[in-house]
Amino acid sequence: MTEADGAGSGGSGARLVVVGGGPGGYPAAFLAAGLGMRVTLIDDGPAPGGVCLHRGCIPSKALLHAAASVGDARRAAEWGVEFGAPAIDLGRLRAWKQGLVDRLAGGLDQLARQHGVEYVRGRARFEDARSVRVDPPADAPDAAPRAIAFDRAIVATGSVPAALPGLPDSPRVLGSDAALALERVPESLLVIGGGYIGLELGSVYAALGSRVTVAEMTAGLLPGADRDLVRRLRRGLEDAFEAIRLDTSVLSVEEDGDGLAAVLAGPEGAPAAERFGAALVAVGRRPNTAGLGLERTGARLDARGFVEVDARRRTADPAIYAVGDAAGEPMLAHKATHEAHVAVEAIAGRPAAWDPRAVPAVVYTRPEIAWVGLTETEALDRRLAVETSTLPWAASGRAALAGADGGATKLVLEPRTHRLLGAGAVGPGAGDLIAEAALALELGATAQDLERTVHPHPTLSETLMNAAAAFYGRSPDYAGRSRRGGAR
Ligand code: FAD
Ligand code: NAD
Repeated sequence: MTEADGAGSGGSGARLVVVGGGPGGYPAAFLAAGLGMRVTLIDDGPAPGGVCLHRGCIPSKALLHAAASVGDARRAAEWGVEFGAPAIDLGRLRAWKQGLVDRLAGGLDQLARQHGVEYVRGRARFEDARSVRVDPPADAPDAAPRAIAFDRAIVATGSVPAALPGLPDSPRVLGSDAALALERVPESLLVIGGGYIGLELGSVYAALGSRVTVAEMTAGLLPGADRDLVRRLRRGLEDAFEAIRLDTSVLSVEEDGDGLAAVLAGPEGAPAAERFGAALVAVGRRPNTAGLGLERTGARLDARGFVEVDARRRTADPAIYAVGDAAGEPMLAHKATHEAHVAVEAIAGRPAAWDPRAVPAVVYTRPEIAWVGLTETEALDRRLAVETSTLPWAASGRAALAGADGGATKLVLEPRTHRLLGAGAVGPGAGDLIAEAALALELGATAQDLERTVHPHPTLSETLMNAAAAFYGRSPDYAGRSRRGGAR
């Protein structure tokens, strides 16, 4: 029987089980249903959406949106518009955020019905390479377990926070779930980890009134991004945070009356106990693949617990595919969704492979920082010859009027052809800006293509065009030398 033969394979009419209802799982389920497969989507939550919708991307961006309004109101005083100190009603903020999540989750629930996807709530475990057992969720322990047979399965179980051993089991020690629940705003917050979550949720708490100290173990924030852009980000964050401490490890955290006593070791001097109202642990995430029963199938995990997959997102077991955080880095929602498309098309016997030129990354702090494709740092590490062009946003009218002239847009280009290899931006809206660079990368655009594309004025998107123009020394708004040779 071939893959396109129908039931018993992956074609139309085949039984597909998708384990995990996040941005990897639910798009896979909906797409497969559209291709005529009989789909069961299993998740332990009451509605699809996964970590991203319920405990990740959406609630964190909702809170960051509210936090940005606090910053905007404060900045407006510089322009002669005074709002006074913000009065923050935590209850209403929580309710607004939850209402938003519930509305989007309700939409997914409805879409599942429209697609004819059966949504099964519970915890799935593989019995073998043809069936899963679904145990009831923790909040409905009396429901009967179910066995569901499949022709093909997609593992989309996501990731869970990495633990930091030795911390007390205390309501003052928060993970991202607890931080997003926003029970209270501590007077001071120690953020352990200067990555995506530490910087984003640290920004939320800082805007709501906490004095935030970030302790990052390595020499820099966000190791994926170029240092020149991170330096600009750091300048922006230093306004909001009490301190950003690099090369700093947390030696201990202990309960201490109505707070925590933490001992930090870093370049600032001899370690000494410091007090914080609470701590947020954000030291990375790991694939959620333990206890899934994959050892009863042919699928294999790598040393870090990611499901090993090929370019078609197929595991070593021909009936089982894997996508999203469980199937490798980067752990980003848009990567999960694109992989879901690849897996479903592969299951349907269509030509498909995971082969993007680039996956954009965005950290939604104030300022935002975003990058896509090759960074200059990576080029140097890999001894690749590149040239770069950086346009400071001081040369952008739109950035100036928004008080964002500390931002910058950077292009990483192939010498001679001037083909775009990567791009980065820091400043408000950098995340939206980087989408154009992602498209340019996928289409093989050159700096000249970017320069000659008419961009609307006055927008921040012009900084991409002008970074390209400045590369040739013909930006109308920037006379500085932006072109730089990279590694050779
Ligand atoms: P998930 O979204 O993790 O979904 C997996 C689902 O499977 C979960 O509902 C889980 O409970 C369920 N599950 C697991 N095991 C089983 C089982 N055995 N049986 C049944 N169900 C099971 N990414 C971005 O791109 N942009 C952002 O702005 C962003 N912000 C984030 C903010 C935070 C605070 C966090 C924590 C993450 C953020 N991410 C963001 C990362 C993003 O959430 C993940 O990359 C994305 O959710 C991965 O999707 P997924 O489908 O692989 O898994
Ligand atoms: P992260 O990998 O982004 O950052 C963790 C940071 O903690 C790193 O800088 C690391 O050096 C540091 N660290 C590790 N151990 C430490 C220790 N003992 N003390 C001090 N610092 C330590 O991880 P995260 O912030 O937990 O986020 C997890 C993942 O979720 C991200 O990598 C990303 O894939 C995803 N995410 C994405 C977004 C987004 O797209 N905007 C937002 C949030 C989360």
